[in-house]
Parts: sequence; structure tokens; C-alpha cells
Amino acid sequence: MIITKTREEIELMRESALIVSKTLGMLAKEVKPGVTTLFLDKLAEEFIREQGAVPGFLGLYDFPNTLCMSPNEQVVHGFPTKEPLKEGDIISIDCGAIKNGFYGDHAYTFPVGEIDAETQKLLDVTKESLYVGIRELKVGNRVGDVGFAIQNYTESFGYGVVRELVGHGLGKKMHEDPEMPNYGKRGRGKKFVEGMVVAIEPMINMGTHRIKQHADGWTITTLDNKPSAHFEHDVAIVNGKPELLSTFQYIYDVLGIESDEEKEFRQNL
Ligand code: MG
Ligand code: MG
Repeated sequence: MIITKTREEIELMRESALIVSKTLGMLAKEVKPGVTTLFLDKLAEEFIREQGAVPGFLGLYDFPNTLCMSPNEQVVHGFPTKEPLKEGDIISIDCGAIKNGFYGDHAYTFPVGEIDAETQKLLDVTKESLYVGIRELKVGNRVGDVGFAIQNYTESFGYGVVRELVGHGLGKKMHEDPEMPNYGKRGRGKKFVEGMVVAIEPMINMGTHRIKQHADGWTITTLDNKPSAHFEHDVAIVNGKPELLSTFQYIYDVLGIESDEEKEFRQNL
């Protein structure tokens, strides 16, 4: 069942989405060679609590940390570890927080120092595909329109779209209806309605779309051990159109990235 949100609830969800956005912005300063993901996890937990929020993943389905930290060939759901990041790594950081009873859920894949051009291309295309998908999130469209757009875009670069993990509705629960696959067929699936809030999160592999689940029950890696990227935004349907609740702007301010990719998804509510 899709739980739509009122304008007031969407404003509360924006607060939660901005907390996770600011958390990733804070981490952008800290992601560098030599730093451990466990250290970043502690920083994030402190930062989220300072904002009057609670880490959203800690304890959820018994996950033991604040952040999911998935380097290189790890797709998602990796644990923070004492292993230092190395020059040339990529690290996908997924962050959840709860404020006013609502979840924010947000992810970005960071380069660690200098990365090779092929891997940078994977990051660029995966992030672009997030916006290609968000553009389809409007009243009159269906779940399959978003998935088709992301799949069509990323596969045109020869990349693999992970099938087993999907985006989702977001609200008082981390995972609400509908599931939002990053693949699909135009005109298929549930219809979008005013007041929906969803997390759209392409997980895109440089090589095969196939993955393997590790015995720890959480860690997921690509079957061919090639890198995987993950970007996630929280988006509401307002006035029939997509309205971004989360933002990468805090990250861009730190990294000195100029971008107007989010502009078309801002409305005056
Ligand atoms: Mg997430
Ligand atoms: Mg999510």
C-alpha cells in the first residue's frame, strides 16, 4: 500500500533528507587515503545526533552501524571497517537518519584521491542516471518508466544494472511501497500519485549486473569484482512533478563541483 504524505509531512521529510545530505557533505571533507570507514561511521553518528536526529540504519534489521560503506566492487550494505581507504578506491556511502519520525535515506559514491578515468565515468553515468530516473517521477507515469529510463541510459554505456536491490517508498518506515527497480518497461507497474515520497537509488556495475551475497548476510559484491556505484535521492511528487528533498550541494561545496543538475527538480512549495 502506498502511503502518500501531506505537504506538512513532506516538509518534515525534507528536514530528514537535509540531515543526511549535510552528513554526506561533512564526510566529503574526510574521505581521503588512510582514513578508515569505521572512523567515518563514528563521525556520522555524532553528527546525526547533534542535529537532533537518530541514525536510521543502526539496529535496522540488526545492522550494527550508522553508515553502509561499500568500497570498489562492493555494491551496497558493506560494513564500516578498520581497513584504511587507499588512493584510487571508490567508496559508496549510504546514510539514513530519523527526525520527527520520518526517515531520510541518501547515498553518494566518492572517489578516494585520484581515480582512473574509467571508474570516474562509471560514477558520472550512475549519478546522471539518477536524474534521468527522477525526471520520470511524475503523476501519470508508472514505476516502470523510472526503471526503464535508468536502465536504458546506463546500459547504453555497457554497464550492468543490479536487479536484486531496488529503490523504495520512504516515510515513517525506511522501506515502504512501492519498490522502485532501476530496470523495467515503460508503462508498467504502479501509477505515481500526488504526495508520494520515494528513494531512487541506481546501483550500477561497470561489468556484469550479476552480484554475490556474502556469508555475513549483508555484504554484496559484483560477480566479476569490477567496481559498482550507488547514488540516492529522496524525492516527493508535488504539483504532479518531482521535488528533490535531498541534495548533493553540501558535497559539491566541499569538493568544489559546479553543477545545476538539481535545479529543474526544485519547486516553490
Ligand atoms: Mg540508502
Ligand atoms: Mg534506500
